[in-house]
Amino acid sequence: MATSQSTTGEPTPGEPDLGKPDSGKPVLGKEPEATRSPSSGAPSDAFLSVRDLRVHFSTEDGIVKAVDGLSFDVEKGRTLGIVGESGSGKSVSSLSILGLHNPERTTIEGSIRFDGNELLSMPERKLRDLRGRRISMIFQDPLTALSPFYTVGEQIAETYRRHMGANRHDAHARAIEMLDRVGIPQPKVRVNDYPHHFSGGMRQRAMIAMSLVCDPDLLIADEPTTALDVTVQAQILDLLRDLQDEFGAAIVFITHDLGVIASMAHDVLVMYAGRSVEKGTVREVLKTPTHPYTWGLLSSMPNLTGDVDVPLRPVRGTPPSLLDPPSGCPFHPRCDHAAVVGGDRCATERPVISLVDGRGAACHLAAQDKERIFLDEVRPRLG
Ligand code: SF4
Repeated sequence: MATSQSTTGEPTPGEPDLGKPDSGKPVLGKEPEATRSPSSGAPSDAFLSVRDLRVHFSTEDGIVKAVDGLSFDVEKGRTLGIVGESGSGKSVSSLSILGLHNPERTTIEGSIRFDGNELLSMPERKLRDLRGRRISMIFQDPLTALSPFYTVGEQIAETYRRHMGANRHDAHARAIEMLDRVGIPQPKVRVNDYPHHFSGGMRQRAMIAMSLVCDPDLLIADEPTTALDVTVQAQILDLLRDLQDEFGAAIVFITHDLGVIASMAHDVLVMYAGRSVEKGTVREVLKTPTHPYTWGLLSSMPNLTGDVDVPLRPVRGTPPSLLDPPSGCPFHPRCDHAAVVGGDRCATERPVISLVDGRGAACHLAAQDKERIFLDEVRPRLG
């Protein structure tokens, strides 16, 4: 069964009390109320339930294990942030939910249940009907996602007509309504503009309008603010929060930016090499992270409140090739703490994520070692 409760942000049973930094740099924006963590393992009746998802691509060089045993849940009205470096499998996972992989070159195993329906075995026609109407996606680059040959209004209206069976007049009126809803000025005029007439921020708003025109139940946002400046980014995040309040959709928010996660998500899943390495509520994961990779991600963020002389510490090394991932813990070639575990355990034995009330990390470190390392080495770096 999915999920567990954690309304206080206190360490959950079974996890070490790692303390509470008062001005930890991950807390960059308004934190949504944290009430529930994503879970994994047992089957779930969550609104979106992904279990043991494996997405492997066949290439000339071999099999790329882009996603290799991923599990998570998302409920309606909640946002799950998926964070990790490029190539960690974030976007591949979301495209699997939408059924957008090339079936000739892709092997997908596991389970993706949406509102009680298994998507991986769903006929393409039925899946196509779900896409756009009940499941929608905001892509990273609105300039390439919007067609340059049709007006913004035509593209929004066409989505509405196709999925909702509306006539042209009603679909046009709906397009204007949605442009107004996402904050496009003079929507009755701008509805007739082409994408190149819009600024980057306006195009992203238009993409959001198109994604929400059918009132989807599940919205997947893949790095929706990466290409935007910080002011427009903040506006878009505000908009998504408002729209979630209004429409009550479940949101999967993919990003490499923990600051965005802090201001946007209820729950967090940290991905590395196609797997989840840490899960919990935003408060749990960003205040008291327990996986060395999450420590590395947090330490690599700029600190706007602490000592400006403290240098940024990027995660050393590079993400592994998913053609030939490392043995044991896939993070071990980059990890500074494998020696604490001792022997060659990190290099030979793959850690599994063990969850207590939806909170946990895939790491061999003992709880007392995690606590000591976090308090003595990691937290001082976070400012
Ligand atoms: Fe580091 Fe070992 Fe934990 Fe992997 S299992 S993150 S190598 S300490």
